[in-house]
Amino acid sequence: MIRVLHHMADAPKALEQVRNCLQPNGVFILEYANKLNLKAIARYWLGKQAWNPFTLEPVEFVKLNFDFHPKAIRQWLAELGFAVRRTLTLSHFRVRALKRTLPTGILVFFDSLLQWTGAFIQMAPSVFVKAQLTKQGIVPQVERENVLSYFKCPNCGHHPLEDRESHLECSRCKKRWGVAEGIYDFRELLAS
Ligand SMILES: [Zn+2]
Repeated sequence: MIRVLHHMADAPKALEQVRNCLQPNGVFILEYANKLNLKAIARYWLGKQAWNPFTLEPVEFVKLNFDFHPKAIRQWLAELGFAVRRTLTLSHFRVRALKRTLPTGILVFFDSLLQWTGAFIQMAPSVFVKAQLTKQGIVPQVERENVLSYFKCPNCGHHPLEDRESHLECSRCKKRWGVAEGIYDFRELLAS
């Protein structure tokens, strides 16, 4: 399992790279920030926000941090041969609580979750998608590339990041991010 957190500067390309390194029937969980959330819609209607939450293009709300439209994500996944198995929407508060209690075993946890919400409509700020590679998406082994080559440094934008097994490192600004059990965690810097 691969888990990628935010910072997808070129999202379709990043998703393609995830696809390219998955085995047939491989599963991955994508978490993304949802531009079509109630707060953004309210702000847009009140004229306090320039960007339109209803259009499909991503919005860069902070440098290298993007909000995505759920339909755009679904289209990209479908084009890449993924079937969406489950969709879960969460408030930021619940996401923080979840991440504190859930360093590992996330896939098992998701499968055991009874309350999968948001299968048909997603208007919460955070969306988790469990996607499975179908036959259409299988890429010959020889064409597989390193998923890491599409990550950019969340701090300075440099790429590619250096793979140091236990962590990723930016060769330009020397910032480091943790890797544990196949989870790339760009949310917090490691102490240097
Ligand atoms: Zn950097």
